[in-house]
Amino acid sequence: MLILDAHCDILSKIKAPQELFSNNHHWDAKRASSNGRFLQVFSLFAEGPNESDIKGKMRAQLNLLTRAEKMYPRQLKIIKSYKDFEPFLDCESASVGVKPEAYIDAEKLLTPEEQVGCLIEAEGAEIIGDSLHEIDQLYDAGLRILTLCWNNDNRVCDSIAGQNTHNGLSPFGYSVVKRAQDLGIIIDVSHASDETFYDLAEITQKPFIASHSNCRAICSHRRNLTDEQIMIIAKNRGFIGINLYPDFLNNSGNAYILDIIKHIDYIASLVGVSFIGFGCDFDGVDKLPEDIKGVEDMDKIIEELLKLNYTEEQVKGIIGYNFITRMKVCLESGLNNQG
Ligand SMILES: [Zn+2]
Repeated sequence: MLILDAHCDILSKIKAPQELFSNNHHWDAKRASSNGRFLQVFSLFAEGPNESDIKGKMRAQLNLLTRAEKMYPRQLKIIKSYKDFEPFLDCESASVGVKPEAYIDAEKLLTPEEQVGCLIEAEGAEIIGDSLHEIDQLYDAGLRILTLCWNNDNRVCDSIAGQNTHNGLSPFGYSVVKRAQDLGIIIDVSHASDETFYDLAEITQKPFIASHSNCRAICSHRRNLTDEQIMIIAKNRGFIGINLYPDFLNNSGNAYILDIIKHIDYIASLVGVSFIGFGCDFDGVDKLPEDIKGVEDMDKIIEELLKLNYTEEQVKGIIGYNFITRMKVCLESGLNNQG
């Protein structure tokens, strides 16, 4: 079984590469791999008093992950092109509910069969500062997803939690989107204001994603997507990752796995299942649904899906393949891959 999660903030919680394999947070590689082959989008995320402080912290997280891959090449693989997904496809190395030996021995690292595929995402354009040139450098360093902003307006665009500084994308933001998409970096609208969303939708030349956002029709939080936005993402052949944060799942703030399923069902009824996946937000949120402790419990969501009216093929799509299929065109079409 292949599982992909499109958003995790563990890099902002740890100090050393080895902590990626075992820790007390929501996500570690051992627990992730306990349910199957795992592909994780790692977020570079930081809060800070100003752009340069945020940028510095995000760069440090990028360095930590790059160092981790160098130290543990059999356990971690940074995915930079569609081709890098290939060793992970069609693997059935572990089935739901069966925890491999490695999980029992906390000191033992992952076996090569459990190698975690890593995609790098920046949660905010602060990481590029004011220079388009830096996008190229970040692409070379492995960045493949750019979430335009977090909870503050930045140089590129307005956040849904911001002050409407630019009324959407800034002029610099337009050039950032173009350069990023030309290179083969996926644009992510989670956290973006509605105006930013529509500005992007108008100019995008590639499918784009909402890596960790739910449906506003079910839970009215502003971080969630309207029906119209969901339909635009689908029309652009994009991807939506379901966020496990209870405040984004329902209006009561206490959630269960069934609330996650409601958002999946809703998007499926609106545009079909092939645009849906997970963007769990592990270690980016202070609470999770009552019946989920961390990444090790993703099998419970999968089991719930299998009990419902979804075919095995559709469930495989939701838990991993949809992202890979949808993003193929983005990751294949980078300038660096053409020459
Ligand atoms: Zn976020």
